Amino acid sequence: MMAVWRQVAEGVTGVIKGHVVTLRNLFRRPVTYRYPQVRPELPVGTRGIPVLLSDEEGKLLCTACEVCARECPVQVIHISAHRDENKKKVLDEFDIDVSRCMFCGICAEVCAFGAIAMSDVYELADFEQDRLIYNKDRLAEIGRRRRGPIINYGIKTEGPRYGPEPAATAASPAPAAKTSPPEGAKP
Ligand code: SF4
Ligand code: SF4
Repeated sequence: MMAVWRQVAEGVTGVIKGHVVTLRNLFRRPVTYRYPQVRPELPVGTRGIPVLLSDEEGKLLCTACEVCARECPVQVIHISAHRDENKKKVLDEFDIDVSRCMFCGICAEVCAFGAIAMSDVYELADFEQDRLIYNKDRLAEIGRRRRGPIINYGIKTEGPRYGPEPAATAASPAPAAKTSPPEGAKP
């Protein structure tokens, strides 16, 4: 008989606990977004697809050294280049198969020229598999329309070689490394 009463008590306790959880969540602020109408502000260090960066004249910084392609763990970077009359390498093609990219950021880490960075582009759904191979022009175009400041644009967050802060001038000193997310960023 005692065992029956114990089971009844446990059942009632369980129901009460469940309702407490329900009531607690009923009055919480919603944590969901009305995406895509409302878009989340991405935290610093977000890694979307890697993209190619350009200088102020819009010329790609990539020297076609192919280090990133060699270091990519899943071998999704394809580069081809030729040498000009001065024996200097000229980039012809730079493709990334983003369907297989794992957004590890190694390509951006190993690039000695600050020519590739992890972007904040993460909406990659497409109906055609071929379109998930991003070519040089597409990667460069995304790299030029940097949405946020450089600190929110890649895993490299300091140093003039990764591009000046938007408001910085050539005469101003290199900005100090930032460690906190931009105002308003969600944790
Ligand atoms: S992105 Fe950087 S590492 Fe990759 S080929 Fe260009 S210069 Fe070399
Ligand atoms: S982010 Fe990683 S997986 Fe993607 S291209 Fe760069 S090195 Fe390769």
